[in-house]
Amino acid sequence: MALVNEHFLKLPNNYLFADVAKKINAFKVSHPNADVISLGIGDVTRPLCPAVTEAMHRAVDEMATEEGFHGYGPEQGYLFLREAIVKNDFLPRGIRLDPSEIFVNDGAKSDTGNIQELVRWDNSIGVTDPIYPVYIDSNVMIGRAGELKDGRWSNVVYLPCTAENNFVPQLPDRRVDIIYLCYPNNPTGTVISKDELRKWVNYALKNDTLIFYDAAYEAYIKDPDIPHSIYEIKGARKVAIEFHSFSKTAGFTGVRCGYTVVPKELTASTLSGGRIALNQLWYRRQCTKFNGTSYISQRAAEATYTPEGKEQIRQTIAYYMDNARMMRDELSRLGLQVFGGENAPYIWLKTPGGEGSWRFFEQMLYNAHVVCTPGVGFGPSGEGYVRFTAFGNHEDCAKAMERLRKWI
Ligand SMILES: *Cc1c(COP(=O)(O)O)cnc(C)c1O
Repeated sequence: MALVNEHFLKLPNNYLFADVAKKINAFKVSHPNADVISLGIGDVTRPLCPAVTEAMHRAVDEMATEEGFHGYGPEQGYLFLREAIVKNDFLPRGIRLDPSEIFVNDGAKSDTGNIQELVRWDNSIGVTDPIYPVYIDSNVMIGRAGELKDGRWSNVVYLPCTAENNFVPQLPDRRVDIIYLCYPNNPTGTVISKDELRKWVNYALKNDTLIFYDAAYEAYIKDPDIPHSIYEIKGARKVAIEFHSFSKTAGFTGVRCGYTVVPKELTASTLSGGRIALNQLWYRRQCTKFNGTSYISQRAAEATYTPEGKEQIRQTIAYYMDNARMMRDELSRLGLQVFGGENAPYIWLKTPGGEGSWRFFEQMLYNAHVVCTPGVGFGPSGEGYVRFTAFGNHEDCAKAMERLRKWI
């Protein structure tokens, strides 16, 4: 008899965006002619930049020749890309990494979900709340998160990030084995200062805690004092794994490429007290379960580091951040409390009058025909907030803001 992994059954059936889609569809049935503007989706919309598509065309042509054909590549990614990553994303910030510490992947979601395989099932985990659902759900699937009660998992330590603490999470009051941090943050759009991040690294060094640091939105940071990588903090190489993605940086959500940094100095303990290098373990894991990202995607990713690529990507990010600035300004002018949107493509809005997330979502849908994402879908501390993304086009964002002005 094949027995299922019953931990999967603990996951709530409906995925947040499926619930949102259902409510939009119900609205459309009763309002067939309404023009609904979505500021809810977390996907980019601008096309790939020419530097990237040209590199992809060249790679395809190479693959059509006997000399240029590429079959299975190295599991860890091609050296040309890992060298470009080290040289462009880290060296300019004073961080020296070896290409063997970089693991190219098919996007950050896979690795942020898979990385927990490296640690025992009974490690404790802590997450900032609200968060990207992948971190908790992947732990639920192997039984590490415990049981769901009133929207909280029994074995997860939630570190609230709300207007009350200005979205600065407090260090846990007890030892936690694994901490997930995501900065700039999805969904709140807020960032962490170097001093605050240093507290986390020091906590991890003191408590032998492993930090999983998701830097997927690092390219959106404008403020020169905000860290782009946790390795800007002294000692972080001993305690942190960092995730990057070309998805939001360069519009690769459909191309698929990202990378994970596992420093050589990073170790975790065995039950008997020995120390094991996680770089070796992750390499072994990837060689067994992953067969690499396509050569074409890796050439595309490499092209983001050329002078033309850098400039073209900068322009696309500026386009989105212009939306964010406009939305922030408009919403603030309406007397609403807004957070984020300055170093990240997300705006986190406190619902007026303490309205519930879902109730505000529906009111805005029915009265303004504008879609957002209910904050409570990202965790208990998201209740009373909604998320707007800046990934739409200028015209839609402007039109949506005008409708909100009329409605509010
Ligand atoms: C979009 C996103 C990612 C990246 O996902 P990919 O799999 O690389 O497309 C990672 N982390 C967060 C928090 C994200 O929002």
